[in-house]
Amino acid sequence: MSTKTGSERARNTLAYLRRHITTGTWPVGTRIPIEPELAEQIGVGRSTVREAVRSLASIGMLETLPGRGTFVRSAAPTSTLLNEFLNDFTLEEILSYRRALEIEAAQQAALHRSEDDLVALEQAAVEEQGCTRCPVLMNGSESSAFDSRFHRLLFDAAKNRLLASLYAGTNDQLRTPAHRGRLANVATASEMERDHARVLDAIRRRDFIDAVHSMADHVDHDVVIVNDRQEVVPALARTPEQQQRIDVAREADAQRIGTN
Ligand SMILES: [Zn+2]
Repeated sequence: MSTKTGSERARNTLAYLRRHITTGTWPVGTRIPIEPELAEQIGVGRSTVREAVRSLASIGMLETLPGRGTFVRSAAPTSTLLNEFLNDFTLEEILSYRRALEIEAAQQAALHRSEDDLVALEQAAVEEQGCTRCPVLMNGSESSAFDSRFHRLLFDAAKNRLLASLYAGTNDQLRTPAHRGRLANVATASEMERDHARVLDAIRRRDFIDAVHSMADHVDHDVVIVNDRQEVVPALARTPEQQQRIDVAREADAQRIGTN
């Protein structure tokens, strides 16, 4: 029987999990062993493991998805390191940075996705159908997933740990009360479905050019900044001619994929 105290066991368990994440033994995007396995490996009870997982989830390093397991989301405690850094920037700057991450992830996902990634993305797109809005900004009380699984999986498919870590930290920052109140989802459920289907189609075809354009179009209206009167503050001003080009591309894709 172990002579260690409960708090010692808790500390050791936390250190064990954290070490496996920070050293890359469990890379970002991978699923960690299940609770009973970890309890046996570390030599502690399952409740001690559960507590440590919860604690690492609260700082953005792990995420538990019901029915799928617990995944590594960041090799660093995003809520402290990156959030402190991002605190110095305006919401406009952070949202623009998020758009850059999403577009790069879409491009990389088209190039590096595996068949498993594609299956997972297709499932997520189906599961999130009918959401009244893109769940990127939903919190735990509004959805079982902390944010859109489709977007998360896209970063997994991109196979770039830095992009995934920065994305997790950026979303944490956007969810802080100071920013949340100024953000809104403006697209309808059907627009979201069409957008996701379009991104997915490009990734399926490994077409990184279409992936870039369809994601740029999507992130332009999935999360936007609103003013005091709840009016959208456009991130990118467009001329009618430019908007027409975007509409034509959207329409052509919708015809081809059959999402009309
Ligand atoms: Zn989306």
